[in-house]
Amino acid sequence: MARFIFITGGVVSSLGKGLASAALGALLQARGYTVRLRKLDPYLNVDPGTMSPVEHGEVFVTDDGAETDLDLGHYERFTGVAARKTDSISAGRIYSNVLEKERRGDYLGKTIQVIPHVTDEIKNFISIGEDEVDFMLCEIGGTVGDIEGLPFFEAIRQFSQDKAPDQCIFMHLTLLPFITASGELKTKPTQHSVKELRAIGIAPDVLLCRTAGSIPTKEREKLALFCNVRPNAVIAGLDLSTIYDAPLDYHRAGLDQAVLDAFRISPAPRPNLKRWEDVSDRYHNAEGEINVAIVGKYTQMEDSYKSISEALTHGGMANRVHVNMNWFDSELFERKDPAEFLTGSHAILVPGGFGERGTEGKIKAAQFARDRKIPYFGICLGMQMAVIEAARNTAGLQNAGSEEFETTSTNDDITPIVYHLKEWIHGNYKIERDIDDDKGGTMRLGSYSAVLTEGSRVADVYNRTRIDERHRHRYEVDINFKEQLEKAGLRFSGLSPDGKLPEIIEWPDHPWFIGVQFHPELKSKPFDPHPLFADFIKAACNISRLI
Ligand code: GLN
Repeated sequence: MARFIFITGGVVSSLGKGLASAALGALLQARGYTVRLRKLDPYLNVDPGTMSPVEHGEVFVTDDGAETDLDLGHYERFTGVAARKTDSISAGRIYSNVLEKERRGDYLGKTIQVIPHVTDEIKNFISIGEDEVDFMLCEIGGTVGDIEGLPFFEAIRQFSQDKAPDQCIFMHLTLLPFITASGELKTKPTQHSVKELRAIGIAPDVLLCRTAGSIPTKEREKLALFCNVRPNAVIAGLDLSTIYDAPLDYHRAGLDQAVLDAFRISPAPRPNLKRWEDVSDRYHNAEGEINVAIVGKYTQMEDSYKSISEALTHGGMANRVHVNMNWFDSELFERKDPAEFLTGSHAILVPGGFGERGTEGKIKAAQFARDRKIPYFGICLGMQMAVIEAARNTAGLQNAGSEEFETTSTNDDITPIVYHLKEWIHGNYKIERDIDDDKGGTMRLGSYSAVLTEGSRVADVYNRTRIDERHRHRYEVDINFKEQLEKAGLRFSGLSPDGKLPEIIEWPDHPWFIGVQFHPELKSKPFDPHPLFADFIKAACNISRLI
């Protein structure tokens, strides 16, 4: 039976609750425990799949095809435990489940209320698979006091009452602001936040306080006294130069020990932090640096491409170099020559995206990389644009386009070499879609296999010929153009097992030009960099030696 750790936040948002949860998960693993992490989000969207990445950050996709919050990416990157559909839920999904049951008559004529029906639904979700791990870490999105969050806080309060006395603990993440004028670290916002928590029946066992420096004894004792926690359960969460220092840093600050103490686990198993020492060493002791240009559309929000930037960092760690990421809005290249901006880049990456805006700029970036023999990595839309570029400029299909684009549907001259996929095979099932389907949850989502051509660069990079990678797209390169494009020199080096869907393309006569229809960035870990990212950065290192 699992022990449960509920992680809540207060004072302000964006304190890094997801990261703290992930780092704690890693520390418990380092002590030999098995863990699973879950995110409960109070917003009313059924899932984040339809939310704009500039508003909410990237959508993280699990193997089993759930579109989830980006925090699940942190959980996976820190623990290596593949997240599942049942690790992420929103208030929208909870309410939708409750209303569905009400319509079916499952509640036998009862009046449906937040307590107990909504809270029961949340509690059932929390306990899914509770027998599988030693620790279940559940993070509640938002901050204490948010109206939407109340049913979640009430549910975890009830949940802890339903369980044995030492089976659940609460960790609260807050901020200790430093007032420069008076030179003081302020504990009052944390006191208020804890007061708010206690008013709804939750007493925190551990306080993780974000602060610019260490917490002096006086403030620590004050926090302990007013918030009713032990002084050594007040943990300083310092700003870090890399998130991958978090496990080591939180360990030094006593986080995992405080958590085990709260569960009264004694003696606590000793931690083995070798994995994180190695990760930290690779990051801090880089032996050079390279410049990667990322040409995308959602460049104004750092979190929009979270997994991409993390996977590039991992690729850097694999090669012991620091990766400088230069972000470009692809629309820029529709007005200006990419050479002005991309000269000096050791590699170019075009990530996934949706809609027509900025796509001509991405095609220009692909052309620049192909012509100048600069390593190019096209991911999902980035692959589709590389194929359109190849079609237009090397295979005589001057009007190649994608059905995703308005100009294609309104212009008969355009040849849609990327088309809307209407049916495909998933395992033993046939999935069917229509252009008028709902937008939410209807893409080709989750893990699918691909078969790689023997002797291709990708087969070499993966060192095998069958792979499984995560997908999230509606459109697909049309296999019917394979022959024509291959005559021009482009190689279709990875296909779906039935041979109908192009999964990978590459230019064999180029130092490194690969496009993939899937999202390899989602599976990269700091301690296990994705082979494509590691090899891409290696190619960039080779170029940097030439420039
Ligand atoms: N918009 C493209 C599609 O749906 C690419 C999606 C993506 O890059 N994730 O096929």
